[in-house]
Amino acid sequence: MRGWNGKLLRVNLSTGRVLAQEYSRDVAQTFLGGRGFAIRLLWDELESGTRALSPENKLIFAAGPLTGFPLPSSGKLVVAAKSPLTGGYGDGNVGTRAAVQLREAGYDLLVVEGEASRPTVLRVEDEESELLSGEDYWGLGALETEERLRKEYGRTVGVVTIGPAGENLVKFANVVSQEGRAGGRPGMGAVMGSKNLKALVLKGSKTIPVADSDRLKELGKEGYREVLEKPNYEFWKRQGTMATIEWSQENSVLPTQNFREGVFEEAEDIGGFAMEELKVSQRGCPQCNMTCGNVIEDAEGQESELDYENVAMLGSNIGLGHLKQVGVLNRLADDYGLDTISLGNVLGFAMEASEKGLLDYRIEWGDFQAAKALTEDIVHRRGVGSVLAEGTQAAAQKLGGEASTWAMNIKSLEITGYDCHAAPGMALSFGTSPIGAHHKDAWVISWEMKVGRGSYTEAKVEKVIEFQRIRGGIFECLTTCRLPWIEVGFKLEWYPKFLKAATGMDLSLGDLFRIADRVYSLMRAFWVREYGKAWDHKMDVPPARWFRQPLTEGPFKGATLDREKYQDMLQRYYRKRGWDQRGVPTKNTLAHLGLPEVAEELSQYIKLTP
Ligand code: SF4
Repeated sequence: MRGWNGKLLRVNLSTGRVLAQEYSRDVAQTFLGGRGFAIRLLWDELESGTRALSPENKLIFAAGPLTGFPLPSSGKLVVAAKSPLTGGYGDGNVGTRAAVQLREAGYDLLVVEGEASRPTVLRVEDEESELLSGEDYWGLGALETEERLRKEYGRTVGVVTIGPAGENLVKFANVVSQEGRAGGRPGMGAVMGSKNLKALVLKGSKTIPVADSDRLKELGKEGYREVLEKPNYEFWKRQGTMATIEWSQENSVLPTQNFREGVFEEAEDIGGFAMEELKVSQRGCPQCNMTCGNVIEDAEGQESELDYENVAMLGSNIGLGHLKQVGVLNRLADDYGLDTISLGNVLGFAMEASEKGLLDYRIEWGDFQAAKALTEDIVHRRGVGSVLAEGTQAAAQKLGGEASTWAMNIKSLEITGYDCHAAPGMALSFGTSPIGAHHKDAWVISWEMKVGRGSYTEAKVEKVIEFQRIRGGIFECLTTCRLPWIEVGFKLEWYPKFLKAATGMDLSLGDLFRIADRVYSLMRAFWVREYGKAWDHKMDVPPARWFRQPLTEGPFKGATLDREKYQDMLQRYYRKRGWDQRGVPTKNTLAHLGLPEVAEELSQYIKLTP
C-alpha cells in the first residue's frame, strides 16, 4: 500500500501480547483512516454492552493517510473508544508528535486492549515494543510525566499520557500530549486509566510509503506557502482562536453563567486583545505553520496555553473575568488530564446548583479559589467532586428535580462554547454531532450569523450535513487539522491532491463525502446498537434551558429556541441522511453505503426501517 503503512499494532495489556497485524486495502479505501478506522474497528470488534471502563473496551489511536507527511497541519492523531461518559462512540483528536512517530514506526493504528495489573508505560520503537513499569509516573500530572519521559527516551519521542483525572476514572478525563495539547473529550483518558496505562512513548525511523514522493513534496511546499500568504494569517498568528471571544460577545453567543446568557460583562478582559497583552510565546502541533496555541503567564506564574474554548468555558461560563486566573484553571485541567470544556460546564453547573440551594456546598459565580478547589475535588473524587466527576448528566440525575433542564449536555457530552438560544442551526449541529455535543463536526454558527439566525431553514440542515462531511468526515479521517480551511481559507481542493500524491487514489470531493457518510452512518449505528430499543430522536435534542428559559440580557433578550421548529429541522436532517424518524439509518441507506452486514447485525437490536 502507498500512503498507508497497512499495519496496526495490537497490544493486550492483560496478557502482555503485542501483535503487528496487516489490514486490507479495502478497509483503507473505504474508511480512509483516523475516525473511519476507529469506528470500523469498534463496530467489528466490540461486543454491544461492553462496559466502557472494563478491560474489554478497546482504546484506539488512529492516524490517517496524510499523517506524518510534510503537508499543512497533518500531525494529528485520533483517539477513540466506547465512551464512559456517553455510553456511545467517543473520540477526539490530538496534535502530537506521537502521530508522526506512530506512522514512522510503521503503523497506522495502535489498538490497546485488556488491563495491566499495575501502572504501565507502553514504549514502541519500530518493530520493538515493551511494557514498562509506570509506577514512578502514576499520580503525576500529565505535563511532568511527559517531560520526564522525554528526558529519559529522547526529546523527539512522541508521548501521550493521562493525568490523575484519567487514573481516577473521571468520566471527562482526556489524553494529553505536547505541553497541554489534549483530546478525547468523552472520557478517553478514563478508558486509558482503566487499563492502567499511564503513557505511550512512540518512536519511528521508517519512511512512510508514498505513491509520488516528488509531487507530495512539491504540493506540501505550495500548500505551506499558500497558508503563509493568506491575508488573515498574521492576525491568526497573533490571536489564534482567541479572537472568537469578542466575536461571540458581539453576536450574543458567548456562554455565560452555565449558558443562561450569551453576553458577559467582562468579555473584553478575557478576549483576544487582552490575551495579546499577556502572551509570552506560541505553540503548535507538528507539521503546522499556523501554531495557534497562545501561551500566557498565569496568575501563579506558570505557562498556560489558551484557546477560545478553554477561555469561554472556564471564563464567562463560570462568571470569571480574570484571564490570568482562567489560565490557572486551564493549566490545571491540562495537567490533571481533564477536558477543559466539560470542566467549565461542570463548574458552571455546580455554581448554579449552589445558587439554587441544591448543593450542600457553596460556590459562587466567578469565585476562582472555590473553582480551583472544586476542580481538585473532582480529580480526586472527594465529596461533591465525586458526583461531578461523573459529568453534568449523571450529576443532574443525582440532584433530581429540574436540574436536568440546565445540565448543559447532549447525549451526556457537555456542550462546547456557543450559546444557542438564538442559533438553531448551531443547535442542530450540537444535537447531531456523533460524539455528543461538540462543535468540531459542524461549526455552522459563523455562517448562520450571516444568513439570518432566527430561521429554521432547509439551508441550515444542508449546511450542517455539508460541514459534518467536511470537518467530521474528511478531516477526521485524513487526521489533518480543519483550521487552515476554516480560519485562513485554505482551499478544500488541496486535499484530494494531497491524497492522490500520498496514496495514488484519485478521489473527488464527492467521493470523500461518500466516505464521510459511510463513517457517519456507522457511528450512528454504533450508538443505536449500544442503546437498542431505548434509542430515540430525543437523544439529538438540546437541553430544555435553550427552549424554555429566554436570554435576559443583550441584543437577543427574550430569545429561545422553538421546540417544534427544531424537531422539524431534525426530521429533515434525518431524511437527508437516509435515517428514519428515530434517527436510525435505514436498511437501504446502510446497503447503499456498502454496509449491508451492519444492517443485518443492527436489526438484532432494533427493528430497522427498510
Ligand atoms: S492550526 Fe492549531 S490546532 Fe491546527 S494543527 Fe496548527 S497548531 Fe494544531
